[in-house]
Parts: sequence; structure tokens; C-alpha cells
Amino acid sequence: MIWDLRFWIINMNKNEFQKFVQYLKEKNKVIAPQHDVEGYLHLNELNEAKDLYLGIELPLDSWKWFILPPRQEMFAYKGLKIEEILPKLKDQIFLGVSILDMQALTLLNQIFEKDTYYQEIKKKTIVIGTSLVPEENFYKFFDKFEENKLEHLQFDIFLAVQKNDYIIYTGSEDGQRLLDDFGYKDYSHIEYAGPIREEGLDPQMVAIKDAMQNRHNQKIWDELDKRCMQCGKCTIACPVCFCFRMFDQSNFEPGTGSRNRCWDSCFYNEFTQVAGATPEAPKHRMINTTAQKIYFWYEHHFVRTPATFSLPGCVGCGRCSKTCPADIDIFTTIKEILKVKK
Ligand code: SF4
Ligand code: SF4
Repeated sequence: MIWDLRFWIINMNKNEFQKFVQYLKEKNKVIAPQHDVEGYLHLNELNEAKDLYLGIELPLDSWKWFILPPRQEMFAYKGLKIEEILPKLKDQIFLGVSILDMQALTLLNQIFEKDTYYQEIKKKTIVIGTSLVPEENFYKFFDKFEENKLEHLQFDIFLAVQKNDYIIYTGSEDGQRLLDDFGYKDYSHIEYAGPIREEGLDPQMVAIKDAMQNRHNQKIWDELDKRCMQCGKCTIACPVCFCFRMFDQSNFEPGTGSRNRCWDSCFYNEFTQVAGATPEAPKHRMINTTAQKIYFWYEHHFVRTPATFSLPGCVGCGRCSKTCPADIDIFTTIKEILKVKK
């Protein structure tokens, strides 16, 4: 629900915003997009308020690095004794999260809803989003900002970016407290109404899901088979790829060690390797060819995730295309998928 109080609310101007960033930085660890010396946009701890980039370009790395770390120790064992290891983390603020990435975080929040390790980090994380989206994205839903789009996203503070100032919204009590403590009162509050929209999935996402399910075109995957080198960079870059594997790390002392999880990729051979090998098939896998792997990856994003969570399994950020060494472009592939098969 949106409390419509905007008729008396004054937007935050750019000077006030600078002071707000300074205020955040003084008290917290702030992670924000910043250009490196070579001009690439990355997420890093913000040391100087002036280094914050707030624009339509998306950082190459996604926010999952800081909420679902690449490697996590889960518990230590000593003989039969097990001790849970929860992430030790100070409070952190994600500043300048594009609304596309807010949708990605909202999906991760659902997927890891019952995961103690993820939730422990989420509890200590404040999300400050913006209405800025890159020009090239096929998830057009967020191109035009309307405040009723916010009620299905999880965030603490949101900046609807205007030409000279920002309309400020809060999405949680933590967000309200932060602004109140700073001394800023001109915000509207958006009550979170759950992740699923009443009108269902975005029509474009439905069209892709429908084409993937009902008009399988093997030629697309055979073509990509010739180019993809199974490096897995797209899965690392993607803000909603979340697959991981488990491994045990033993210590010198007998019977001691820890269980860990780390990111994995469905492009790696071991990922779908299963027990039951035979001399004829010593490495028995669920998925073998590159064409199968790349199809599986698209199917995960556009069919299985929407079917399981009623949310888009891709936010159209284009990070997978930017990082792919084989120049495989998701925007081109989607066009191919949507073409009526001849
Ligand atoms: S565009 Fe690529 S990187 Fe971005 S969410 Fe979709 S699949 Fe992931
Ligand atoms: S980044 Fe490109 S080459 Fe690497 S696995 Fe993904 S699609 Fe294949």
C-alpha cells in the first residue's frame, strides 16, 4: 500500500543527497558503484562520497557478491561435534542499487528465504535503490518508473531520480530510521506487498517462457554450442545465478575440519556429474554437450524460475553478455527464441 502524502512532500536536492551519502559513510560500511582507474564500473566500499556513481550504467559485478559470498564456511566439525559458523559481518549499506538489481535481490531473498547464512547477512544489509536502468535491457517493465511498481520489491530506501533532485521512498522501518536519524522527513512509505504482482509476470517474460516451452528451436542451441567455451563467466556475472557446491576442508588435527559452500556453474562438467558410472560411461553426467548446458541455463532463467517462484528469472541486466569471452549476447539469443519457427 502507498501512503499518498506527496502533495506536501519536498524532494531531496542534490546537495542534501551528498550530505546524506557523507552521513551514511561516516557510520557504516557503504558498498557502491565506482569507476576504477581503467574506467570499469565495479562495486566496492565507498571511501569518498565523490566517487559514488549514480547513473544508468550497471556495475559489472552484481550485489550477490556481498549477500551471497562466493565461499562460505557453514559449520566446523570435531569428531561428531558440529558447530555452526554464522557469517561474521558488520552492518553494510548497498547504495545505488538499480531497480533491475532490486528485482534480482528480491528473487534471491525468496530463493534463500529459509537459508540461515543468507538471512544472517540480509539482516545486516540496508538496500538503497534507484529508478535508474540501462538503456539496453529487454525487461522493459522498469523503464518507466511508477511508484506502484515498488510495493513488490524489497528495499529500505528508494530514490526516484528526477532531473535535479530525488523523490524519496522508504520500504522498511530500518530505512525510515536511517532517514529520521539523518534528519530528513520528506519521504513516502511503501508497504511491501510480497514479491508477486497481481497482474502476473511481465508480458515479455511470458512470451520468452512460452517460446522456450512450446517452440523449441534446436538450431539456436547448436549454433551456441560451436561458440560457448564453458567458462562459466556468465553465471558468475549474473545477479540471479545462485547454484553452489559443497566441499569439506579438513584440518591437520585428526577428525576436524569444516563444511563449506562455494559458487558453482552449470557450465562445468562436474556440476551435473552423478554416481552410477559404468566402464562405458566413466563420467556419468545429467548434461553432456555444450548445447545442452546452454539450453539448460536459459531454461533455468526463463522457464523453471518463473514456474517455481512466479518471478522473472532474469532481470535483463546484460551482465552475461558483457562478460562472455565468446560474444554470446543474450539480447540476440532472446530475439532468436522469440522468432516464430519456420
Ligand atoms: S541478462 Fe544475463 S546476467 Fe542479467 S539477469 Fe539475465 S541472465 Fe542474468
Ligand atoms: S560466458 Fe559465454 S563462453 Fe562462458 S560459459 Fe557463458 S556463454 Fe559460454
